[in-house]
Amino acid sequence: MESSSAATVSAVPSPGPTPADLLRRLRARGAADPVTHVERVPARPGVPAPWPSWAPPELRAAFARRGVVAPWQHQAQAATLAYEGEHVVVATGTASGKSLAYQLPALATLLADPRATVLYLAPTKALAADQLRAVAALELEGVRPACYDGDTPRAEREWIRRHSRFVLTNPDMLHHGVLPGHAQWSGFLRRLAYVVIDECHTYRGVFGSHVAHVLRRLRRQCARFGSTPVFVLASATSGDPSTTAGRLTGLPVTAVTEDASPRGGVTFALWEPPLLPPDSGPSTPVPPQSTGDHDDLQQIRRSALRETADLLADTVAEGVRTLAFVRSRKGAEVVAANARRALDDAVPGLGDRVAAYRGGYLREERRELERALLHGDLLGLASTNALELGVDLVGLDAVLICGYPGTRASLWQQAGRAGRSGQEALAVLVARDDPLDTYLVHHPEAIFGAPVEATVLDPANPYVLAPQLACAAFEAPLTPADLALFGDGAKEAVDQLVAAGALRQRPTGWYWRHRERPEVDLRGEGGAPVCVVESSTGRLLGTVDGGSSHFLLHSGAVYLHQGVSYVVDDLDLVDGCALVHAEEPDWSTHARDVTDLSVVSVRSYVDAGPVGMFLGEVDVTSQVVSYQRRRIATGEVIDTRPLDLPARKLRTVAVWFTLSPQSLTLAGVQPADVPGALHAAEHAAIGLLPLMATCDRWDIGGLSTAVHQDTEAPTVFVYDGHPGGAGFAERAYGTASAWLRATRDAIAECGCESGCPSCVQSPKCGNGNNPLSKPDAIRVLDVVLANLPG
Ligand SMILES: [Zn+2]
Ligand SMILES: [Zn+2]
Repeated sequence: MESSSAATVSAVPSPGPTPADLLRRLRARGAADPVTHVERVPARPGVPAPWPSWAPPELRAAFARRGVVAPWQHQAQAATLAYEGEHVVVATGTASGKSLAYQLPALATLLADPRATVLYLAPTKALAADQLRAVAALELEGVRPACYDGDTPRAEREWIRRHSRFVLTNPDMLHHGVLPGHAQWSGFLRRLAYVVIDECHTYRGVFGSHVAHVLRRLRRQCARFGSTPVFVLASATSGDPSTTAGRLTGLPVTAVTEDASPRGGVTFALWEPPLLPPDSGPSTPVPPQSTGDHDDLQQIRRSALRETADLLADTVAEGVRTLAFVRSRKGAEVVAANARRALDDAVPGLGDRVAAYRGGYLREERRELERALLHGDLLGLASTNALELGVDLVGLDAVLICGYPGTRASLWQQAGRAGRSGQEALAVLVARDDPLDTYLVHHPEAIFGAPVEATVLDPANPYVLAPQLACAAFEAPLTPADLALFGDGAKEAVDQLVAAGALRQRPTGWYWRHRERPEVDLRGEGGAPVCVVESSTGRLLGTVDGGSSHFLLHSGAVYLHQGVSYVVDDLDLVDGCALVHAEEPDWSTHARDVTDLSVVSVRSYVDAGPVGMFLGEVDVTSQVVSYQRRRIATGEVIDTRPLDLPARKLRTVAVWFTLSPQSLTLAGVQPADVPGALHAAEHAAIGLLPLMATCDRWDIGGLSTAVHQDTEAPTVFVYDGHPGGAGFAERAYGTASAWLRATRDAIAECGCESGCPSCVQSPKCGNGNNPLSKPDAIRVLDVVLANLPG
């Protein structure tokens, strides 16, 4: 989301402490200094550029009326490349004004050629509506911008197809509406000059792979109608945006990454909550699904939630306007409640100046909240990042980020809320008990240096390619030339569709055989979603993707929905429905599974003496067999109950490494400790993969074994949790030494003695985190790194 013109309200008169003073006071509280690094991100003046000579005076005047006197350099550079016909991706920071980079060439072209058209794609309807307002506000004659999505009334659709020259939509609508109905769009597509893809980093994994083919289908239709539009993409900063944009569009794309917009200075502190004294007993944790914290694991570090609550109370007590970002609603409520309590203990009534922001507020309520915070009636707010999408808040004095939000783009988006115009602000990242967070607070270069995390997608995934080719064939028969457009694996996928009776081969190409069009859901993952229904009322609470349903919705599972606790009475796999009732037991549930993995084929490998590194297809069979009930307050296991759920098979892509038993013995790993060493290395490696690729550790699975039947050696597998793979394992293979180096460092640098959630324990382990050997995991990774080339 871009908001290049967010209003900065500075109605609070008192200047408050400087960020450096404030940080000094915060870190002086405890015995040990929790700050691992302080980065001064200096203020940066903007570098303006002259309007490109091709930008018509009419357009310059329109922008000037909206307060844009001149573009920043990166905007002008990207705009000119696009105007000259190059496909371009602009990958710069939050609020750097990426929209001008595509509006400028697109609108200049619409003004110069009264027939030309532009198609704009956003990942959400809300963003498209936002952009519609921005383009409409320019009041350019003859452009007639319009949103075309599921909400567009039928009556308006035809008018838009005929008369709008700037259509804003989303990939789902392109897939379900525009492309299958291309005949009605022929006039628009024939004259299509630009395709704008906003927030293109959101097209990742399986969804991103589908979108990549939707774009190829669009290019094919354009070519049939004789147009070759220029693609302009906008992305958050990430590693290698040119390659990612190229994969997404199938075209060579030039990247513009030098951000020339101005920004305020920020003092950015990395904060690691202290280890608890050994005899202090467990702190009071909160259920894991609701907060992202892991109550089932032995807590040896003070929780990020408690630490954030204390920091929020301290900054509010200093009169500093502070926003705390927490990953879940429940977590945000816990942080606000604890901060309020601490403030009321100090000064009764002061707690009223802290609130929790729970998404789903009405627009007026959100505006009221903004007003209260900007005017200082409210000093502290704890929020999920829902706020990123709903509330326009800038110019805060401090931002607390409870747990790494998953990507650098989100991190900077959150930190970017700090800083009134011209004034320094404080941002604090509070590490959670998690290998990635631990690594980051000890490796500031991974946050402040050049980005390494890339947006990955895999258009060659056969589970995506085949249904997309079916859609393409429905739209127009496939020709041999089309196969090149759809890339690697297209011929095989077409052959399979012919064998399955979906396509018929004729001398002129491949034809879709059915009347109805293929049903393909761009966002469908791991089978049909399972509905969660409240038995007493029949109310649909939500859906859970098929892949997670056995874990989260088995009979007896405690299921949290928007902070309310339910217990599952029955999971009906045939109907795809789980019946639940509201109940708040004092235990949480944790499913256990057994997993079996076999190697189907090897795509690529590195033979490094005693070590082998592989990428290939695997079959993973897993079955949820039982669940534990554990006391929320203590983590004590109450009992383990069996479950009767069918095994599920997943054909996917994995990366794996093998080591010779001799090399392990030489490194000092006793044979009895090999399983624990590999298992610990596997957990940490999964935890660190999001450093290299934008994925969640829940997108990935792992398996380790002292002898695997297919590799005949000690082996660690890490696989994509989506049928056909989503690109994560491939990225892991491509960056293996950097990835495993970071994994090794995260384990070695953790201050715990024998393993904790910050290093080798995993919240989703199917084996209850047993066995695990932290020191031997380091030895295993040292052997791999010593042998693996660069
Ligand atoms: Zn540890
Ligand atoms: Zn495990």
